[in-house]
Amino acid sequence: MICGTAITPTFWVCTACEQAYALGGSWKNWPEWAKALRNDERRERRRNAKWREYTVISLDEVEVLERIAYGDCNNDPIGERFLAG
Ligand SMILES: [Zn+2]
Repeated sequence: MICGTAITPTFWVCTACEQAYALGGSWKNWPEWAKALRNDERRERRRNAKWREYTVISLDEVEVLERIAYGDCNNDPIGERFLAG
C-alpha cells in the first residue's frame, strides 16, 4: 500500500516496505501515518468488494431480462415471477 507493489489481501505492506519503514508485526504498533494509510487501503478494499457484489447481482438480472427478451420465459418460474412482480 506504500509503494504500490501488488500484495495478497492478508498483507498491508510488501516485504521491502516492511523493512524500509520498520512495519513488522501488528499494524497496531505502526506509526500514525502508516495506520492512516492502512485505513485508506481498507476502505478501498471494502469499496471494491461491494462493487463486485453489485456486479454479480446485475449480471443475474441481465440473464433474466435476456430470457424475457428472447421469449424463453414460457414455463420458466424465474421469468414468470419476474413478470408477475
Ligand atoms: Zn512496498
